[in-house]
Amino acid sequence: MEHSAIVVGGGIAGLASAIALTQQGWRTTVVEQAPELAEIGAGFAMTRNAVAAFRGLGFDDDDVARLGHETWAAGTWDLHGRPILKIGDEPKARRATTVLGVHRARVHAALLDRARSEGVELVTGTRVTTVEPGETGGARAAVVDGERRWEADLLVGADGARSAVRSALFPAHVPVYSGYSSWRAIAPGPVDEPGLRQYWGPHASRRGPASRRVLPARRPGPVRVRAGRHGG
Ligand SMILES: Cc1cc2nc3c(=O)[nH]c(=O)nc-3n(C[C@H](O)[C@H](O)[C@H](O)COP(=O)(O)OP(=O)(O)OC[C@H]3O[C@@H](n4cnc5c(N)ncnc54)[C@H](O)[C@@H]3O)c2cc1C
Repeated sequence: MEHSAIVVGGGIAGLASAIALTQQGWRTTVVEQAPELAEIGAGFAMTRNAVAAFRGLGFDDDDVARLGHETWAAGTWDLHGRPILKIGDEPKARRATTVLGVHRARVHAALLDRARSEGVELVTGTRVTTVEPGETGGARAAVVDGERRWEADLLVGADGARSAVRSALFPAHVPVYSGYSSWRAIAPGPVDEPGLRQYWGPHASRRGPASRRVLPARRPGPVRVRAGRHGG
């Protein structure tokens, strides 16, 4: 018998889960609150396990190469440029700390294309407000957006840090701001620094430590320039 799954949230986690489930024969629906499935945001580092997971969804070497720029973690420096942790510039260390510098939108676009071609049902403009977990051997799990209701054998909560699914199923688990903030930006041109470098310092943020990461993520083609503060 075909199993069905509802994935709440069409971000990177939701689409990746939906692709994996569909490839295993599950009939999968992604329910996303945004009117369009699109990713904003900045660059991030795909570590080796993330790249392996991406390949596990059926992407090949060319797909990985199209995502971004391979680099490695070079270490952490303080505000004055003094090294806190310097990772040796030798092949073994480089291999162990290799990451792919990518723009989040490219990863999301690749996953979205694949989800469509695998036949994942994508429902947008639909904010899940009620979650029913179902019962073992009894009622199926369900999500409701105020008017419509979807039932499935499996419910995947991939609706981000302020997850409605988590609040419904685990109300005692409330996200707490850690006091850490970071500002991110995408540079349209080349970044003249080798490797991924982190700079840590006590005075860049009013409420706590702040960091600056320089991650070469450039590829040919336009990327939007966007700077933003995360945290809180
Ligand atoms: C500053 C910063 C730096 C980071 N750097 C890295 C990094 O270098 N490498 C790395 O791997 N990770 C990094 N992360 C973590 C990574 O960005 C997140 O773990 C990842 O993006 C989360 O993806 P997601 O799909 O789970 O959630 P999200 O991207 O938040 O997607 C959730 C989706 O659910 C939808 N949604 C929410 N509520 C509902 C609802 N009620 N109904 C329907 N839809 C809903 C939202 O619209 C959204 O589309 C970083 C995070 C931050 C904040």
